[in-house]
Amino acid sequence: MSARGGPEVLQPAVLPNPKPGPGEVRVNVRVVALNHLDVWVRKRVASPELPLPHVLGSDVSGVVGAVGPGVDSKLLQREVVLNPGLSCGHCEACLSGHDNLCRDYKVIGEHAWGGYAEYVIAPRANSPF
Ligand SMILES: [Zn+2]
Repeated sequence: MSARGGPEVLQPAVLPNPKPGPGEVRVNVRVVALNHLDVWVRKRVASPELPLPHVLGSDVSGVVGAVGPGVDSKLLQREVVLNPGLSCGHCEACLSGHDNLCRDYKVIGEHAWGGYAEYVIAPRANSPF
């Protein structure tokens, strides 16, 4: 998405192939659902200051196609459904199992590039299997 507005702003684009960083996986996207958050972001209701271009798509499933440093390579080719919530994993809220209350809570497809693409990067912890 390179502009905000109606569905007409969703246009194909060529993007670099993302590389997973430490503790991350790259998922080859097979299916992405339309979450209403995608519509809110596109219409500037959510994250109005989000820099463009941006890749929407919070609800993603696919296959692990690459792993970053520190992630077990046995996870390659595993089918996954991503948890779209991103949190620090270290604060009191996260350690008590309430990561949705993390002061750094973010969502794939809103604060990080999402699954309206061939690939999406996510923390290994977001791809439980
Ligand atoms: Zn946290």
